[in-house]
Amino acid sequence: MLKVDVLIQGAADFSKEIWFDYCSTTLITTAEGKRIIVDPGSNRILLLEKLGEHNLQINDIDYVFITHSHLDHSLLAGVFPKAIVVTGSQWWKDGVEIHNHDGSYFGKNIKIIKTSGHSHSDSYLIVDIDKKKICVAGDIFWWDKHEIQEVHPGEIVSHLDRFAIDMQKLTEVRMSILKVVSYVIPGHGKPFIIDK
Ligand SMILES: [Zn+2]
Repeated sequence: MLKVDVLIQGAADFSKEIWFDYCSTTLITTAEGKRIIVDPGSNRILLLEKLGEHNLQINDIDYVFITHSHLDHSLLAGVFPKAIVVTGSQWWKDGVEIHNHDGSYFGKNIKIIKTSGHSHSDSYLIVDIDKKKICVAGDIFWWDKHEIQEVHPGEIVSHLDRFAIDMQKLTEVRMSILKVVSYVIPGHGKPFIIDK
């Protein structure tokens, strides 16, 4: 059965000289029982602990999906011995790089969408589950722990991303996501429901 579990709720604190920063890590179990880790992040101890809470080890993971190349999301991509690492446009395994997969690499219920705005190359997933759509968003949406996480869609879309390479593009991408999904897992911050 297709399932989405937030293993780690990402947090970020850029208020001091030393940044404290790890991303949300999501486990998707496909209808066929394959396991995808979205954004393994940068906190190895926390990742292993959370996998253990789900009775999983690094050998049990079939795929790693990276939303964008920033190291707070991608640093641990290589810790899963059997996993194929997938990005918005490529997949990798043991030194082989295959370009140009289409957005349906994970099957029809998990759509990969390639975009930009936070970074030059962002991607996010839309998971179709029980007639609801869940967006695993990477840093298309994120909040620092000192910021109030707004609930109003208008504020959510315009929330300033201090690291965005193109805030206008990012705002448009956010609007297009909120139009179609009912639940969003942000890169850092609490998952939220979209009122329709
Ligand atoms: Zn991030």
